[in-house]
Amino acid sequence: MNMNSWHVNVKVVFYILIAFLFSFVVRLIWVYQFGEIESFKFAGQFMINTNDGYYWAEGARDLLSGVHQKFDLSPIDQAPSLLTYLLAKILPFSFETIIFYMPSILGSLIVIPIILIAHNLKMLDVGLLAALLASIAVSYYNRTMVGYYDTDMLTIVFPVFLVWSLILAFRTKEEKYLLLTALEIIAYRWWYPQSYSLEFAFAGLILLYALVYERKNGFYFQLLSMMLFAMMGLPSLARIVLVVLVYLIIKQKKFFKYTWYLLGLAIILFFVTGGFAPIWGQLKSFVFKDAIDVSRDALSLHFFSVNQTIREAGQIPFSIFAERISGHTITFIVSVIGYLLMVWRYRVMLLGLPLLGLGFLALFGGLRFTIYAVPICAFGIAYLLFTLSAYTQGLFDNPKTGQLIKSLIVILGSLAILYPNILHIIGYRVPTVFTKAEVEILDKLKKITNREDYVVSWWDYGYPIRYYSDTKTLIDGAKHSGDVNFPVSYMLTNTEERASKLARLEVEYTEQGFAKSEANQSVMNNTAQMTLDYGLKDANDFLESLDTNITLPSKTRDIYFYLPFRMLSIFPTVAQFSNVDVMSGKPMREPFFFQSSRFQDSPTALNLGQGVVLEKNRGTIKIGQQEVTIKYFITTGYTKEKKLFKEEKLVNPQGQMSMIYMQAYNTFLVVDEAMLNSSYIQLFVLERYDERFFEPVILEPAVKVYKVKM
Ligand code: MG
Repeated sequence: MNMNSWHVNVKVVFYILIAFLFSFVVRLIWVYQFGEIESFKFAGQFMINTNDGYYWAEGARDLLSGVHQKFDLSPIDQAPSLLTYLLAKILPFSFETIIFYMPSILGSLIVIPIILIAHNLKMLDVGLLAALLASIAVSYYNRTMVGYYDTDMLTIVFPVFLVWSLILAFRTKEEKYLLLTALEIIAYRWWYPQSYSLEFAFAGLILLYALVYERKNGFYFQLLSMMLFAMMGLPSLARIVLVVLVYLIIKQKKFFKYTWYLLGLAIILFFVTGGFAPIWGQLKSFVFKDAIDVSRDALSLHFFSVNQTIREAGQIPFSIFAERISGHTITFIVSVIGYLLMVWRYRVMLLGLPLLGLGFLALFGGLRFTIYAVPICAFGIAYLLFTLSAYTQGLFDNPKTGQLIKSLIVILGSLAILYPNILHIIGYRVPTVFTKAEVEILDKLKKITNREDYVVSWWDYGYPIRYYSDTKTLIDGAKHSGDVNFPVSYMLTNTEERASKLARLEVEYTEQGFAKSEANQSVMNNTAQMTLDYGLKDANDFLESLDTNITLPSKTRDIYFYLPFRMLSIFPTVAQFSNVDVMSGKPMREPFFFQSSRFQDSPTALNLGQGVVLEKNRGTIKIGQQEVTIKYFITTGYTKEKKLFKEEKLVNPQGQMSMIYMQAYNTFLVVDEAMLNSSYIQLFVLERYDERFFEPVILEPAVKVYKVKM
């Protein structure tokens, strides 16, 4: 190694360190802003701010403790949990600290492949600016900030490393980059199983390139073979062994003449092992997208599809799309021009197309895709800025003036590029998923419950409940299709009697279902199975029978209802899932539930917004054009000892709607008779539990927990 290349290498490492530090320090802005907010902290550390993170945290926690329960859905074999476990084992920090800071550290690794690519293209300065921008650009920051503990922290890092090794493979034709590419694909798939679409895009692009420009060059087909071996439908370890073997063969030049056989073998094995299956599944799911899910069992029950509540983003405004990728519309447009210029000069930069293309999908398929385009666009604008500054420098005869002007352009340009992104970060004050008060309740619940017990709640709270209380849940961030949401929605929106009985049934049937599928027996949808087991053919008849004295399955564990205040605002959505006639798929009469915490009071009327007005003198409520009578007017509040008190006034026994003023929460509710009698309103809002069915366990203003007595 000569002195010159030694200097360059030191510079590469130095630039990487600078960019990494910058990326990390910028992420500390959030920590600085919320340092005093105690409600965001638990166990002496900030809590995470993404719901899904609690899933990986549960897996890592179970790996650390060495115990987990059968059928608990804990991801103990998944990469994010395994990596977290490993870090928690070797690092001297608390588990809570590790999961909180992991995204900011791992996400900042993106600067490494960016600077390495630039190094290979002999434009380190461009690489530094690109790394600074990519590491903090709006959408990349949002999903790798402190506390955003999810797969995102490496989902962009891996493919940019892939671009790096592909660029080096193209430019050096050295076999070691084939191996690196293959290993990166395996690591990427291990970390993020959905990575196959991007892997396919890279393979397709290389195939196209090889067919158009390099038909006679075996190297590109060796590369394709290696990629196919890495993408096969085999366990990661088997694929690692396979690609290392293939690499050792490829390295022997005497085997070069068998390149075509190798490719043929790779293609055959790829299809035989099911390597194409994920893409095929994806295509099928695009074709069959329905509003109602029909269960595949004897009754063909109809369930509300979750796709309906997660509104497809549809068209997003171009300015938002551009800002999320580059921080500003102008930056984005210029960066696309810069990228084209860069491709024109360095054709290998075409290897950035899969990432850029996936980013552009955001224009059709939702904002979450923008993140993929970030690093490529960062390259584009950095390249353009340095090209422009070099060109300007050449316009000056005096070298000193030229140098000065060049530096000025670079510095001012860089600041202008970074500024909108930093501004975004300062304004992006994301709260933690739960507040300290809520987590303390879950922690208390953990001490009361057994690990085999079930906690019933809406799916949004599934992962955090499992992480903090270490119980089982019926639904969670991954398990929330219409058929499993249905019974939980039904429990929360129906009477305490129906709720408690269905809870016992659903929990026992869920456990039986797991056992059956483990024994390779076919499993029917629980609601359908219950209907048939009770000798009925109509699921509605079965649900009605919950009011009668039916024999329930024997109790194998305890069941708790976790009812948080925060569910109030999504209660209409919760209700939607059981507001369908499961036999016909037709919607039932919509239950009425209205919530307002912004209202205007006057002597004659209380305006709750959205056209709902209480006419004080007439004792009626106007809902749009309709005027309805009031049955109950209930006021709730808490004493100093945090005990609920309520004042109930029967306004009109024939009234259609009831009104509840939750003083402590500054919230008004307007509900119909069915909603008033729902277990959630009865148990959470009014603490009116029927001792035959429920027993209070924790009663706090933020959350109320009841034990099912069935
Ligand atoms: Mg557990």
